[in-house]
Amino acid sequence: MVVKVQQIDACRWRIPREGDMRTDGLVFANRAMMDALKKEHALEQVRNVATLPGIVGPSLAMPDIHWGYGFPIGGVAAFDDQQGVVSPGGVGYDINCGVRLLRSDLEVQQVRPHLQKLADALFRNVPSGIGSHRRDLKLTVAQERKVLQQGARWVVKQGMGSERDLRHIEEGGCIEGADPDLLSDRALERGLDQLGTLGSGNHFLEVQMVEEIREPQLAQVLGLFPGQVTVTIHTGSRGLGYQVCDDYLRIMLRAAAKYGIKLADRQLCCAPLNSPAGRQYLAAMACAANFAFANRQLITAWVRESFEQVLGQSAEALRLSVIYDVCHNIAKYEQHVVDGVRRRLCVHRKGATRAFPPGHPDVPECYRGIGQPVLIPGDMGRYSYVLVGTEAGFGETFGSTCHGAGRVLSRHAAKKVARGRRIEEELAARGIVLRAAGRGTVAEEISEAYKDVMEVVEVVQKAGIGRIVARLRPLAVVKG
Ligand code: 5GP
Ligand code: MN
Ligand code: MN
Repeated sequence: MVVKVQQIDACRWRIPREGDMRTDGLVFANRAMMDALKKEHALEQVRNVATLPGIVGPSLAMPDIHWGYGFPIGGVAAFDDQQGVVSPGGVGYDINCGVRLLRSDLEVQQVRPHLQKLADALFRNVPSGIGSHRRDLKLTVAQERKVLQQGARWVVKQGMGSERDLRHIEEGGCIEGADPDLLSDRALERGLDQLGTLGSGNHFLEVQMVEEIREPQLAQVLGLFPGQVTVTIHTGSRGLGYQVCDDYLRIMLRAAAKYGIKLADRQLCCAPLNSPAGRQYLAAMACAANFAFANRQLITAWVRESFEQVLGQSAEALRLSVIYDVCHNIAKYEQHVVDGVRRRLCVHRKGATRAFPPGHPDVPECYRGIGQPVLIPGDMGRYSYVLVGTEAGFGETFGSTCHGAGRVLSRHAAKKVARGRRIEEELAARGIVLRAAGRGTVAEEISEAYKDVMEVVEVVQKAGIGRIVARLRPLAVVKG
């Protein structure tokens, strides 16, 4: 079915309310992106989300939008805390998939001679690939419960990381209200040996260099300088989060029927926020989110150790510290002003990043003057970006931006494009070292599989919902 779209300006498009929609859709994209979008089903998903009860403001889509389970990836939707719903499809299977950026005092020339060794060390120290697990770190059931309740703090308590790290994580690395009793045995079982693993495919660990600074003053506050070495970690809640999503989809289908919620698509199954099923999902989701925060914290410890092993200096001496850690698959209660009225909303961000403005109390104190850091990976062959949130974005998108470049080719199509090519050599020719757990992954993850993230963040910037600070170029990539 064709979705009606009206252009508002160079980077905004309205899907006008019609039929069962309770509100408009609002899509951020340039014309070329919109032309491409019209050929797929993601816009129908934006429209479907607009039919859900209690939605506040438009059903939003960021410029990296593409088709997802029920809700589009790159989608943002806010719901009234009394009349609204919560939907696992609005969070995604990989609960609290997210990105963490580390800085260092190292300059690219100091690291280039050691890149192969560094890539080897990272690949060895951080297990990656489908079903990757750790032989050396199997949690006890009691420990796992603490991880689910405390998130990154549990890892810091084990001596891996600092209080300072925690201050530089969204929500301080722990979402409140987590209740491990609400997880199935299968979900708990899957978490026992997967803490500190990268997983497969799109998940990665990347050593990068700061290639361009657009806003020198903001960059300075973030601790970034030209030619500097940084590290990005992208992973989530692994099998545990997947299982939580899967378990609760079944519960939500029953709940939607029980509360008489008409679903435009079964994948939008949901429950009222103030129903038992709704509250239980949020408490289970918080467990998975905390597992993901702990996962990225543990991986950070091994990144530090890898640098120490290869460069022979301590992580402190190298000033290898956390710039920030963002969630891009999450639903959270937040305060927003809508039509002049302050309201408590449950904001779903699926493949979308929180981007709070300067002055917001949830932004770490050291960044309060410039806004929350927003971390946007691109692809393994080109570049990634660092942005900050804006006041305009807080008003228009509930303080949200894109989360990446977004796929343009399916995994299958990407494999076809990569056939007969030597991707590893192509990357090497551009000075990028690659270590991958699976050969298939490399083909699926070629640059051409993704939009050019530069175009995506330009739309974000032009629309005023984010501000570009710096561009990072990959030096060494570890892929699952
Ligand atoms: P997702 O969470 O949707 O799987 O991925 C987020 C984004 O990460 C993707 O949209 C893509 O732009 C980016 N990405 C995927 N693989 C890589 C990689 O190896 N390196 C970098 N820098 N970005 C990547
Ligand atoms: Mn993920
Ligand atoms: Mn992700």
